[in-house]
Amino acid sequence: MDLFEKLIQDKGPLGKHSDYAYGYYMFPRLEGPIGPHMNFRGKPVLNWSLNNYLGLANHPEVRKADADASAEFGLALPMGARMMSGNSVYHEQLEKELSDFVQKEDTMLLNFGYQGVMSVIDAILSRRDVVVYDAEAHASIIDGLRMHQGKRIVYPHNDIAGLEKQLARAEKLAEENGGGVLVITEGVFGMSGNQGRLKDVVALKEKYQFRLLVDDAHGFGTMGETGAGTGEEQGCQDGIDLYFSTFAKSMASIGAFVSGDKYVINFLRYNTRSQIYAKSLPMPLVIGALKRLELIRTRPELRADLWKIVNALQSGLRAKGFNIGHTNSPVTPVIINGDETYATKVVLDLRENYSLFCSIVVYPVIPRGLIILRLIPTASHTLEDVERTIATFEAISEKLKNGYYETAPAPS
Ligand code: PMP
Repeated sequence: MDLFEKLIQDKGPLGKHSDYAYGYYMFPRLEGPIGPHMNFRGKPVLNWSLNNYLGLANHPEVRKADADASAEFGLALPMGARMMSGNSVYHEQLEKELSDFVQKEDTMLLNFGYQGVMSVIDAILSRRDVVVYDAEAHASIIDGLRMHQGKRIVYPHNDIAGLEKQLARAEKLAEENGGGVLVITEGVFGMSGNQGRLKDVVALKEKYQFRLLVDDAHGFGTMGETGAGTGEEQGCQDGIDLYFSTFAKSMASIGAFVSGDKYVINFLRYNTRSQIYAKSLPMPLVIGALKRLELIRTRPELRADLWKIVNALQSGLRAKGFNIGHTNSPVTPVIINGDETYATKVVLDLRENYSLFCSIVVYPVIPRGLIILRLIPTASHTLEDVERTIATFEAISEKLKNGYYETAPAPS
């Protein structure tokens, strides 16, 4: 049988995904300058769908730094892997500055968050080691663990007692095999907005022997007094052995990094396959990241602006009775009961009649019977945007109550 025919037969034309309209629900095309006010299908929308937390994507100083670096170096440089011919003083400077910022001895740059975290997990584990990880870990962590040939143990999301139970098991298994234990969790979970209970995880180190890897993709730049992330926020950065984040969110760029003790990062430099066998980050991305980091460090008002919007949005939604779960980060999920067809009608209404664009999360990312309309506040939103959004959600909620969506036309 033909492989591709079999593939479609087994998994359906879109794999595990439902047939949402391309260009509308799936792969929508947002146009115009990046920010809260963009165009969708030729009409302006209020956009709550970008991880541009600090508004750096369109910040004039960032745009200038990116443009200047592109003009000077082009996109080609470096033309090799970091280890062979792709190193530069800028790469080294960025690593040094990131280390200082997140309070770790050393840092290694990674080309992408997704591949980076996978590859770091792969590099530090052998088949003798045992991994214990949070049930809601990001796909990049799960995929890193797929490469692990030793034991993997999942614990219920943010459940410290559950983790402790598994740690006792993991420690025993690792001992029997002559291996170690790695715990993996996240600083801020991107779907729910829940902070990982890092301080509680770190406290378990008094009782169990393990190393801790934290993916702080959503916490870097947004959490903590200086923006150094969720470890700083919870006062337990020292207990995080490997601190990972991407440049794709607060930094509004591409790239990632992992920080930790010098000897471990040095080991990773020589053993992280996605970096060894791939060209290193281009100069404009590295120089652009230096500028972004400088702004994160020196302009606390960006974070203050973000949190002003986060607090207004979350307290406003809660006051009107919306279920936004247990978020304690900028990520704001509005959780609605209903099936997938219902969700598309709500989103159609939001986009067509209220000019409001947010992401919709449904099964299989979350359980069936729930719809999450996910709002990502940024420093570039205004209090007026917040007011308009809350009023819109109220209108939608009224329509939900009076059965409007049962008869509303389904999207074609
Ligand atoms: N980890 C987490 C928690 C994420 O949310 C993401 C998505 N950006 C990644 C890793 C992957 O990062 P990148 O987009 O840089 O590949």
